[in-house]
Parts: sequence; structure tokens; C-alpha cells
Amino acid sequence: MENLKNIIRDVPDFPKPGILFKDIAPLLQNKETFHQAIDAIAAQWANQHIDVIAGIEARGFLFAAALAYKLGAGVVMIRKPGKLPYKTYSITYQLEYGTDSLEIHQDAVASGQNVLIVDDVLATGGTMKAVIELLQNFNANICGLAFLAELAFLNGREKLSGHKLTTLMTF
Ligand code: IMP
Repeated sequence: MENLKNIIRDVPDFPKPGILFKDIAPLLQNKETFHQAIDAIAAQWANQHIDVIAGIEARGFLFAAALAYKLGAGVVMIRKPGKLPYKTYSITYQLEYGTDSLEIHQDAVASGQNVLIVDDVLATGGTMKAVIELLQNFNANICGLAFLAELAFLNGREKLSGHKLTTLMTF
């Protein structure tokens, strides 16, 4: 797993001065590390009878689709406002400065389905917390939260207590 961690690139001052961004693009574009990452996350969620994997726009989609294929599940899109064509549920959440929103189709998840939520990086946990709330619109069972990487110094995990959470690496 060290090779997966080492291929992630640090980009200083992105998207704002003072932020050290973990750029996962090199891991995605390399055929060995992408396969290794998907196989390892899928192994963490094998035999859990997951019906749908909800991916968070945009990098979460890349993991959600590959994992859904691997685990024999469907894939659901959680998107930024105004992108989904059908009726949506929406959640607005607080950022450091201002707010952001995410949407999901109202028929994306059926009652009783087992849902795994996936994103690339866990930072402050605000995004994932909002997505969990968004999924409260459905009578579904959130099996857990899967990330490629966690920025542990931001303590995002604390916002997500009560849910099974997996990550392949911690910074
Ligand atoms: P949070 O809401 O603060 O946990 O931020 C998580 C969201 O921001 C995820 O959707 C990530 O894709 C993105 N994000 C935050 N920091 C990074 C980073 O360093 N690298 C890649 N994505 C990040």
C-alpha cells in the first residue's frame, strides 16, 4: 500500500494559498495503482450485500463506478446543483466560507437497499456528513463510508461517528 501512498502528489497552495492538496490523478492514471486501489477497497466491502454505491461528484464517481462493477452493485450519482435532470432531493451544507449543495435523484435508492457511500478523500468530513443527511430521504441502510485516503489531521472522522468507515491510507 506504500506505493499507492507515494504516488499521490502534493500540490501546495491549491485551491487556495496555504492548502496542501493531495492530487490523486497520478494514482488514477497508472494502470497498476488504479487496479490495486479498487481491488483493495472492494476487498474491504466484499460479502456485505451492497445494492448501490453512491459516488460524490466528481472524483468519487471514478471509485463508485469501478467498485460497483467489482462488487456487483448499481451506482448512484450525488451531484452538484443543477446537473441532475429528474426530480431531486437537495442538501445545503456549511463550508469554511459560505455554503455548498449536493443533489440526488428522488428515485435513486429503493426502500431497504444497502448503500455504500464513496469519495476519494476525507478532509473535514463536511461533505460526507451532508451526503449521509441527504440519504436520510430514503428508507435505506447505509452500510458504510469508503474513502481512498483520509487527512487525519482535520479530524473529519469525528463528524462521521456511528458509521463503518474505511480508508486505504492516512496522511
Ligand atoms: P471535506 O468535506 O472537507 O471532507 O472535503 C472532502 C471533499 O473535498 C471530497 O469530495 C474531496 O474530493 C475534496 N478534497 C478535500 N481535500 C482534498 C485533497 O487534498 N485532495 C483531493 N480532494 C480533496
